[in-house]
Amino acid sequence: MNVNSGYERLAALNKAHVWHPFTQMKDYNGSDPLIVEKGEGVKLYDVNGRAYYDGFSSVWLNVHGHNVPELNRAIEEQLGRVAHSTLLGMANVPAIELAAELARIAPPGLTKVFYSDSGATGVEIAIKMAFQYWHNRGARKKRTFVTMNQAYHGDTIGAVSVGAIPLYHEVFRPMLFPARVIPYPYAYRHEGGAAGAMEETLERLRDLLETKADEIAALIVEPIVQGAAGMIVMPPGCLREIAAICKRHDVLLIADEVATGFGRTGRMFACDLEGVSPDLMVVGKGLTGGYLPVAATLATDEVYDAFYADYEEQKTFFHGHSFTGNPLGCAVALASLKLMEERRVVESVGSKAGFVDRKLHALAETRHVGEIRQQGLMVGIELVRDQATKEPYDWAERIGVRVCARARELGMLTRPLGNVVVFIPPLASTEAELGEMADILVQSVRDVTEGRSG
Ligand SMILES: *Cc1c(COP(=O)(O)O)cnc(C)c1O
Repeated sequence: MNVNSGYERLAALNKAHVWHPFTQMKDYNGSDPLIVEKGEGVKLYDVNGRAYYDGFSSVWLNVHGHNVPELNRAIEEQLGRVAHSTLLGMANVPAIELAAELARIAPPGLTKVFYSDSGATGVEIAIKMAFQYWHNRGARKKRTFVTMNQAYHGDTIGAVSVGAIPLYHEVFRPMLFPARVIPYPYAYRHEGGAAGAMEETLERLRDLLETKADEIAALIVEPIVQGAAGMIVMPPGCLREIAAICKRHDVLLIADEVATGFGRTGRMFACDLEGVSPDLMVVGKGLTGGYLPVAATLATDEVYDAFYADYEEQKTFFHGHSFTGNPLGCAVALASLKLMEERRVVESVGSKAGFVDRKLHALAETRHVGEIRQQGLMVGIELVRDQATKEPYDWAERIGVRVCARARELGMLTRPLGNVVVFIPPLASTEAELGEMADILVQSVRDVTEGRSG
């Protein structure tokens, strides 16, 4: 290997000073760190010059690939004007243009855009808006949130309060506000299959709202695909029914489209798959094409109007962040949306998804593949010890970690979710690139689960 002389130094500094997210540093520090130097198209290159496919879109963000001339230019042009100015009491050009564009492409009714800088802050904003919406309208008992089993909405305290992944969230329980949890329909492990899982979810929601709707502010959901839970795909019709039940009982619907937004599921937003218009919608990740940290919480006029009053009425939404509406981020988001339209990126996802589905069919007969779940270009492969009984691998075997380590050896980066191997390629990937990535994925799963490697 052509070892960069700088590698040893960077690796030592990394070990000495960088605390990585979602990482047991004791494990990490015992391994050779991958240090990225540059990206080009759907590949990342480490400081030693080795290329890797970005098989998880740098944790579900990337849309057009890396180092895209059009996106770079949008940032450079904005940089020549102003890098940042605040949105507190004043505006800037790209933030206005982007808000109008988001309102145009969002599900009908979402006309107002509140900016922040990450999915988690976008979720905090949605939660606080929903809470204060009812407060401002005088329905002060409506203050409880409903979330779904295994939900992930980010890592700030409000977002963790509506999170339901015990491994991440349980330790913080004493500092969280309580939320009501209903099951997310997980067909693979439900004895009634897809229909049974969906019915249980809807029944639990109906039961809860029939008795407690006057205490419930909102339900928050990852529409169509529950990402961090392991790429769990809802049975068709479920989201539409959830939305209808919420509406019937005067409970706001918050759609967390941070992972699913911007074409990932085959439509611009996952809500579009079922014609659902939520009251609040959170976007992040792919909004800037995966370039810069910008998120947004979209709201309906009805939500906005509950805050719109004479100052003395004290209905103002007192929330904001230093970098809210950052012009560089908004400029690159606009450029990304323009490219998506010019290149018909969303329209291309369906056929690319079909291609990936056919490639991954090679895994269906593999002994330790329990289920391959896919919606658009979001794929999760659930590995099991025994296909017939669905017996899971023990977490201590770290089967997902080992498969992803093998994929890295073979030239593709991804990260597992427990025993689920994730494949979320950049939407711009060509069929040739998707084919090579899928081949690596298939080989990694086989090599590790059939004991040939890892
Ligand atoms: C990633 C994610 C978040 C959190 O976004 P950050 O930008 O990491 O704070 C929230 N919700 C969902 C569904 C996500 O996938």
